Amino acid sequence: SSATETIRATLFPGDGIGPEIAESVKQVFKTAEVPIEWEEHYVGDQVDPRTQSFLTWESLESVRRNRVGLKGPMATPIGKGHRSLNLTLRKELNLYANVRPCYSLPGYKTRYDDVNLITIRENTEGEYSGLEHQVVRGVVESLKIITRQASLRVAEYAFHYAKTHGRERVSAIHKANIMQKTDGLFLKCCREVAEKYPEITYEEVVIDNCCMMLVKNPALFDVLVMPNLYGDIISDLCAGLIGGLGLTPSCNIGEGGIALAEAVHGSAPDIAGKNMANPTALLLSSVSMLRHLNLHDKADRIQDAILNTIAEGKYRTADLGGTSTTTDFTKAICDHL
Ligand code: NAD
Repeated sequence: SSATETIRATLFPGDGIGPEIAESVKQVFKTAEVPIEWEEHYVGDQVDPRTQSFLTWESLESVRRNRVGLKGPMATPIGKGHRSLNLTLRKELNLYANVRPCYSLPGYKTRYDDVNLITIRENTEGEYSGLEHQVVRGVVESLKIITRQASLRVAEYAFHYAKTHGRERVSAIHKANIMQKTDGLFLKCCREVAEKYPEITYEEVVIDNCCMMLVKNPALFDVLVMPNLYGDIISDLCAGLIGGLGLTPSCNIGEGGIALAEAVHGSAPDIAGKNMANPTALLLSSVSMLRHLNLHDKADRIQDAILNTIAEGKYRTADLGGTSTTTDFTKAICDHL
């Protein structure tokens, strides 16, 4: 066989535990001989006027050029007068869908052992449009923007995902009884797309009822698609069903086939720098990046090594009730490889 070509991918180690778990990914990729060359980018400490954020134009260009990347968590200082890094990435790269698979891990016991669902979150607008202002003293206003274009785009992605991944049902999650115009338009777009996929069952579930159903019996759900804020909340809820934020990966999908994988969790300042973080979420995100690149062989090997290490139970990080450090756990995965 011919020598495998090296693929360039952008890596943002990020803040807090980011560099520790990014190191883990680099080691696992090295051990598995993944043909990827990382282009590392760090978040600066000065606002780049071209992006109006601490992310430089060069960093964004790197993702645009490579079309594929992995990002660690980025801390967002509350109310500091510059654009959130994550928002900047999502907006500038048009990362319109955030795909978050969530499944029970074999050998790691939680209240549920049959979780197997995918949340697909609209990622560019809704409650996170970043349009907030003071009307008068003591009164502020935040605009929730829902557009036909972005709603159709994410609905289309959800149904296409369901179809190509052997899934049977798509549930649109909403609060259209109260948010009649915004969530109403979101649902209308989902219905339009559903008509093009008669083989996929389509249903609509009100967000509060969805939360109740999820904690009562998560096996009721398959693929869920929803506006931005609901997706943010529901995916953390789902992480809790299977053992916490240390475990759940995600992938941001952008226009023109850009994929930027990242963990669902944040920078975990409470455990940063202590060699305690669970790198599983970022590792599984890197696996989804490999699948996006059609490197299924490497993806399978790495995923098996992670799941087997957790199932074996000898090496687990503190969030899973173990005593292993990030580096010990990573080494155990590499030994499995
Ligand atoms: P968080 O996800 O960082 O932490 C929540 C809890 O989960 C903490 O107790 C933390 O220790 C634990 N945790 C998270 N990841 C873990 C891991 N891999 N292993 C073990 N334990 C883990 O949420 P937060 O504290 O609300 O946010 C901290 C910062 O991260 C904030 O600045 C926030 O804006 C940012 N954030 C960034 C992203 C992102 O970059 N996509 C996402 C969420 C939050």
